[in-house]
Amino acid sequence: MADAVQPQFCPWCGTPIPYEAHEHEPRYEVLAEQARARGVDPPPLPERVSEILAGESFVGACPGCRTVSHVVAHHAR
Ligand SMILES: [Zn+2]
Repeated sequence: MADAVQPQFCPWCGTPIPYEAHEHEPRYEVLAEQARARGVDPPPLPERVSEILAGESFVGACPGCRTVSHVVAHHAR
């Protein structure tokens, strides 16, 4: 399995821009925490599913079109 590739360009105008890794909590983690707060212990997701959902996200600000882009890179197989 290859590592996710960090995006290099603005998806809107194609300007090369630096992206930074952007920490985010995957949605399924938030849901699991909410369930635990209610006293429910949700079963863990299969590893394959959580990999697909998690991805890696990056954020980059484009000086060309002044758009801030959030990009989620998924692992290529
Ligand atoms: Zn742009």
